[in-house]
Amino acid sequence: MIWLLFFGTMALSGLASLLVRGAFSRYSKTPSSSGLTGAQAAQCILSNAGIRDVTILAQPGALTDHYDPSNRRLVLSEENFHGTSVAAIGIAAHESGHALQHQARYAPLELRMAAVGITNATGMIIPFIGMAGYFLSPRLALILMAGAMGIIMLFQLITLPVEFDATARAKRVVGELGLVGPGKQTAGMNRVIDAAALTYVAAFISAFLYFAYYLLQASGGRRD
Ligand SMILES: [Zn+2]
Repeated sequence: MIWLLFFGTMALSGLASLLVRGAFSRYSKTPSSSGLTGAQAAQCILSNAGIRDVTILAQPGALTDHYDPSNRRLVLSEENFHGTSVAAIGIAAHESGHALQHQARYAPLELRMAAVGITNATGMIIPFIGMAGYFLSPRLALILMAGAMGIIMLFQLITLPVEFDATARAKRVVGELGLVGPGKQTAGMNRVIDAAALTYVAAFISAFLYFAYYLLQASGGRRD
């Protein structure tokens, strides 16, 4: 059962990241008629919103793009920082969407920021819970595991509105500012950022399945 869960959730997240990479590699070849790079598009969105305290940085690696609210940094992978494709602008606009959420004190983002510490701590404790089962009681370990997975599942759950809303803001502002041409260009950009949201759905489903599994085990329905 645990192996089925392990390989099932691995396949799910593998499929989601395959879809993202597929959409990205396809639309990273479609240039945007605005001619802007991802970094310029992000700068345009931030300036338009009156955000002046967020630094836009390039980082090596593929799809390393993220918004770091505690340091007010908008980090783009080098490819998207310098790229002028609809994929690069779409991803830069999505990360800018997080900066817009931060500025607007969007409640799910604030909740997610508050939950980062406990979620990271939980992630570090999980490998040691198995030892608790070995030295103390297996049942206690299962209860602790269910609790830990529950925390991770809740974190993935609040991540969903944050990600979907950032994408919705990105689509809106890209259209308003004309950062990407209409028709095929916009459709391509949407394919990339919609696919990216799927990885968060996959992460939530995986966390939910692990939580349900350990909850069932801890409540006595033991099926090995
Ligand atoms: Zn995001």
